[in-house]
Amino acid sequence: MALYMDWNATAKVRPEAIDAIARTLAEVGNPSSVHAAGRAARAVVETARADVAGLVGAAPAAVTFTGCGTEADALAIESAVIAGVERIIVGATEHEAVVETAKASGLPVEEWPVDRRGVADLGWLAERLTAGPRALVCLMLANNETGVIQPVAEAAALVRAADGWLHVDAVQAAGKIAIDFNGLGADTMALSAHKVGGPQGVGALIAGPRARLTRRLHGGGQERGLRSGTENVAGLAGFAAAARAVDLDAMAAQDPWRDALAERVKAAGGAVLGEGAPRLPQTLCFAAPGYASELQVIGLDLAGVMVSAGAACSSGKVKASRIAQAMGEDALAPFVVRISGGWGTTEADWVRAGEAWAPLYERHRARQLATAAA
Ligand code: PLP
Repeated sequence: MALYMDWNATAKVRPEAIDAIARTLAEVGNPSSVHAAGRAARAVVETARADVAGLVGAAPAAVTFTGCGTEADALAIESAVIAGVERIIVGATEHEAVVETAKASGLPVEEWPVDRRGVADLGWLAERLTAGPRALVCLMLANNETGVIQPVAEAAALVRAADGWLHVDAVQAAGKIAIDFNGLGADTMALSAHKVGGPQGVGALIAGPRARLTRRLHGGGQERGLRSGTENVAGLAGFAAAARAVDLDAMAAQDPWRDALAERVKAAGGAVLGEGAPRLPQTLCFAAPGYASELQVIGLDLAGVMVSAGAACSSGKVKASRIAQAMGEDALAPFVVRISGGWGTTEADWVRAGEAWAPLYERHRARQLATAAA
């Protein structure tokens, strides 16, 4: 059977979530209806709100459900713009959902550099915050390609002192490491169900007391008037079931298995990205110099192992990793591959991924040497 090692792209839906979705779909009921069926659907939505809030230690009232993580990012950024920020500072390794929404806002966007490990430079932020008007600052909790964890609490203290708004994209971090929304001090935080083992097309924005959110969809007034539209009740039931099933110890257990593969990659001549930084335990991002990302992904796929190139567009085409470039690793950027595990990944899976990759790279290098000698 082929091995799925691309959980950062989307996680397998947990059996608990599949059950919850199927059970909810089998029941009729609009959460806005006052009769018994409507009240039952409302109970599903509000239970989901409590469960998703629990995933990040927030109050249920802080949760607004959205149609995906991208929409949660957009709700935060667009609300901050309407609330009067005058510029947006965006981490250099942020996801496109944040980068493109910031650019589309019409406000000046400043790119906040990261160091070679992929960690945002707090000194740069401190200086920049004092040098201009009120800012929205966007810093992800963990990067989707490298798994690098950002110093969000430290950034939050700086942003707060400057009366700014800190938006944290925690789409990749949720369900993989412990998150304490209040402790981090972010104003808003984006989540997505399909990275946690829930269904695709369901997200949430967590908002603290300083964040003033603005209505995006007008109509029936669902989600406290912020996002009209009948709730995705079954999807939310799936999100909640996945959130309840999160097992951080099982994720942490992957750290040494991931590192064992990293050692194998390095022994073969590869370079691991973000290695010196705190990282998600189940994400490995590396470059195999001279071996294009796309060829590695295809080679591994033929060998029965599904992984990602560092970056892929929606067209499925692979381009040089923007994240590696932001880390100053331009020379490695065309050769980046990401291997990511999830709630169902075993040590044997990590070993198998390495066993599939190592001979591919060996053969590729042998071909390169033969070509060079000819
Ligand atoms: N933010 C990050 C860091 C992501 O990795 C992703 C998905 O890949 C998103 C946002 C977008 O989430 P969604 O696919 O739910 O829109």
